Amino acid sequence: MTKQYDVVVIGSGPAGYVAAIRCAQLGFKTACIEKWLTSDNKTVYGGTCLNVGCIPSKALLDSSHKYVEAQQHLAAHGIKTGDVSIDVTAMIDRKARVVSQLTQGIKGLFAANKVEGLAGTGKVTGNNTVSLTTHDGKQEELLANNIIIAAGSVPIEIPPTPIDQDVIVDSTGALEFQEVPRRLGVIGAGVIGLELGSVWARLGSEVTILEALDDLLPMVDRQIAKDCGRIFDKQGLTIKLGARVTGSKKATLNKKPVVKVQYTDSEGEQEIVFDKLVVAVGRRPLSETVIDNSVGIELDERGFIKVDDHCATNVPGIYAVGDIVRGPMLAHKGMEEGVMVAERLADKKTQVNYDLVPSVIYTHPEVAWVGKNEEQLKSEGTEYNVGTFPFAASGRAQAANDTEGMVKLLADAKTDRILGCHIIGASAADLLQQIVIAMEFSASAEDIGLTMFAHPALSEAIHEAALAANGHAIHIGNRKRR
Ligand code: FAD
Ligand code: NAD
Repeated sequence: MTKQYDVVVIGSGPAGYVAAIRCAQLGFKTACIEKWLTSDNKTVYGGTCLNVGCIPSKALLDSSHKYVEAQQHLAAHGIKTGDVSIDVTAMIDRKARVVSQLTQGIKGLFAANKVEGLAGTGKVTGNNTVSLTTHDGKQEELLANNIIIAAGSVPIEIPPTPIDQDVIVDSTGALEFQEVPRRLGVIGAGVIGLELGSVWARLGSEVTILEALDDLLPMVDRQIAKDCGRIFDKQGLTIKLGARVTGSKKATLNKKPVVKVQYTDSEGEQEIVFDKLVVAVGRRPLSETVIDNSVGIELDERGFIKVDDHCATNVPGIYAVGDIVRGPMLAHKGMEEGVMVAERLADKKTQVNYDLVPSVIYTHPEVAWVGKNEEQLKSEGTEYNVGTFPFAASGRAQAANDTEGMVKLLADAKTDRILGCHIIGASAADLLQQIVIAMEFSASAEDIGLTMFAHPALSEAIHEAALAANGHAIHIGNRKRR
């Protein structure tokens, strides 16, 4: 008998599992199809984010940060550690346990909310039909009043450096090294390149990042990006800008596999040898296998499913959320889209505010931003005030001996409304969220200035930057009017 649902969700990453849970909470009979299998052939929910993305990368960033703390920074607090060493296998095993705990958690949430998890591959075959191919090859047709496609994205591969998941790996392979590579190459100085490059550099790899563009982090406020370049350099990450990779050749050196990478830069043709190479040049939407062409769902020229502001495709009753549609490829953006679609199916008026998607790079210090940066405000001709405050002047940052970075707040020169915030510093992600909330409520810099902040806390740097934007910081904040 054909199974019938109110909603069928394809994919259980952050966009899909959140959509499915919210649909079920709203009373819809909901199924969520997931094809991901563990190495021992068990279905796992959570998608890229939980299995090979946000969570495992942060587990390794936290482990490697603690290693650097123990090795280099605890002595300043009077703590003697003796010889500090890293057990890579134990670190990778811990990461696997964190992942497993969280993916099991999604299974529990599905059960608690009565979402039916279906193992296998889903394909949209009509306005109201999805075919499910189970892992043993059986095919089943599901009927659904509404379909939500949340099939996510996969790493982009480039012809000069074919992935073998041994010497040349993608981000997934870079989370599984069993020993610290002596020389690690990374192609792409984007978010993954910087985060995973940092992990292995902290553990002792000589890391070289080859970036095709001439500017580091073009999406980041220039002043902050300049600070990033200086800090990463000090941490031992060699970032070669304007480096275009043209080819690679695997070889054996001292009986060990290596890869020779050819690239061109302003000085001509170059070659560099690595023990491991990570290709981190972006991700692409996984749209080609999830839709039958006959359904007529429109894709854009890069393969993203075309949707409106409410994530509706051009086919009535079919929605798409997360990495498979336009916008930043971020877990929290996909989750909010999942909630929005579920609630709109229940006739609520929920929207996503795409102007306030926070971005974070989880290096140390962290880099976090929201809203407009100075370059964007200048190009659109908006007059603005800038308030900055360095963590070097924060009592709490000094107490923690972690003083790198600053908070930069941009406010409209006429209305004082906050237009953007850019932070480089310890806990920047959590600090930024205060401004995301403030901006969601259309706060002014003065509103933040008039708010009481607990002392001593890193968040006082936000308070001071807001005061500085209006020219009256108490502790050396800096104001500029542009
Ligand atoms: P995915 O998480 O990709 O999930 C899609 C799911 O659909 C997968 O489980 C897949 O198996 C399944 N699927 C696909 N096709 C089918 C089909 N036909 N049938 C059944 N199932 C199917 N973002 C952040 O916000 N913060 C971070 O710190 C962060 N760190 C990251 C670190 C790394 C190394 C990587 C690679 C990504 C990171 N991201 C981060 C990005 C984040 O992981 C993605 O934006 C997010 O996972 C997208 O969610 P999604 O639900 O759209 O897709
Ligand atoms: P990215 O788009 O952030 O960076 C890719 C970089 O590779 C860019 O700087 C690009 O110029 C460069 N590049 C592209 N082709 C190249 C080539 N042939 N040679 C040299 N450089 C080249 O992509 P990513 O780092 O792969 O991450 C993918 C997605 O995952 C991103 O959209 C990101 O949002 C998401 N992600 C987010 C987080 C986070 O939120 N902290 C962490 C990891 C990944």
